[in-house]
Formats: sequence, structure tokens, C-alpha cells
Amino acid sequence: DVAPERLQVEGLTVRYGGVVAVDGVSFILEPGQCLGIIGANGAGKTSTLRALMGLAPRACASMKLGEVDLMQVNARDVVRHGIGYVPEGRHVFGGLTVRDNLDLGAYSRKRNARRKATFDEVYELFPVLSDMSNRLAGTLSGGQQQMLAIGRAMMSEPSILVLDEPSMGLSPKLVGEVLASLNRLRERGLSLLLVEQNAWLTFEATERCLVLENGSVALEGPSADLRHDAGVRQLYLGL
Ligand code: ATP
Repeated sequence: DVAPERLQVEGLTVRYGGVVAVDGVSFILEPGQCLGIIGANGAGKTSTLRALMGLAPRACASMKLGEVDLMQVNARDVVRHGIGYVPEGRHVFGGLTVRDNLDLGAYSRKRNARRKATFDEVYELFPVLSDMSNRLAGTLSGGQQQMLAIGRAMMSEPSILVLDEPSMGLSPKLVGEVLASLNRLRERGLSLLLVEQNAWLTFEATERCLVLENGSVALEGPSADLRHDAGVRQLYLGL
């Protein structure tokens, strides 16, 4: 297993041509911590995650995982450094079985010795996936597909899991199930970086949170404090 390391991002900028999507964002994710990023549509949340994963054009003063300079690590290799990614929209392979989708998540592992054990762990985390392991992923409900997307990322045995809007398109009941699964991951000592439009879920799941506005960090602090902030309540909780 990859030992958990501190993730430190300083002054991250993402530009698409003339559009500055992320403008000098900094954050620290401590080992075992859960950090949330909330913000409106287009605030730069997805771009921040994609830049971290090496999937968006990026400039950064410093981006380090422990002693590793992530600016020197390309998208293909990020997972080998213990960072798992659950992209927005889940992107499971609908024509493949649940089991084969999970198997694909283990592609980065050089040795197969632990693959069976990892399968067992993912099935223990998400019993529904075990029940449905021979079903085509395309026949799963939205919530089940989200579990599968998370399970697939877990197959690489990450120490940090990066999640982009896991609650998207899910009913309130299923959002509750996503929260429960995130809590189970945290109990295992995983670090989580959670991007969400659902501020309620984010405050429930995280210790600390950033509020992104127009590509910059507008607010940052303990989630318990932010949820009581008058501006946050009005803008993000509709209260
Ligand atoms: P959403 O919740 O809709 O995913 P977001 O907070 O994740 O929003 P981003 O998707 O990161 O925001 O987008 C930030 C800004 O960058 C937006 O203005 C968006 O239009 C722009 N943008 C995102 N991707 C691209 C791209 N590939 N090319 C050009 N502009 C882009």
C-alpha cells in the first residue's frame, strides 16, 4: 500500500486559451483528512481536480504529494502515486460487467497478488456491487453506478481519493448512501478531496472546506464553521 502523504497545492492556475478557469488556488490535504470544495457552476471545481490529475492545462507554484513533485507526474502515472480519481458523471463502462469494471480499476497495479484481496475489500465496502458483480454496469441505477465508480477507483488502492460531484443526479436518499460510503472510506484512513455542488453533503462529509468563486478561493475554514456562515447559508444551502 502507498502510505498516506500530505498533498500541498500552491497557486494553481488553469487557463483554456483566454479563459482563466482557476486562478491561484492553494490548499493542503493532510493524511486521513477530508477536504471539500464547493462553488457554483463554472467556479472552477472540476478544472481544479483535472489539473491535479494532470488532465487539464496547468501552471502551479508548487504541487507536492509528500516529497513527490506532481507537476512532473503525467496523468497516466498519478494513480501509481496513490491518487484515485472518480470523475464527474461516473463514466462506468455500461457494456461490461460490474466485475470487469472493477478489474479495469486495477490496471495500474504491477502485481496481481493483492488483486483478489482488493476485490474482497471493495465488495465489503459496497455489498451491492458484490450482489451484482455479473450484471452489466449499464443496467445499474445511478446510485449503484456511483458506488461502482468509487469502487473502481478503490481498486488501485489509493491513499487519496479525488471525487468530482458524486451526488450529481441522485435522489436525496441516494445522496445519503453516498455520504455513508464516504464515511466508510474515511474510517479506513483514506484522504478525500471532494468537489460538490451539494453543500449539505460536503459539510457532512468533510472537516475543512474551500468555497470557490470565479476560479479563486473566496472562503476557507472548518466545515462546521462554514455551514453557519450567513453568506454560505444563503448562497449554497438556500437558507
Ligand atoms: P461545474 O459544476 O459545471 O462542473 P465547475 O465549478 O467544475 O463547474 P469548471 O468545469 O472547472 O467549473 O469550469 C470553469 C470555467 O472554465 C468555466 O467558465 C468553464 O466554461 C471553463 N471551461 C471548463 N472546461 C473548459 C474547456 N475544456 N475549454 C474551455 N473552457 C473550459
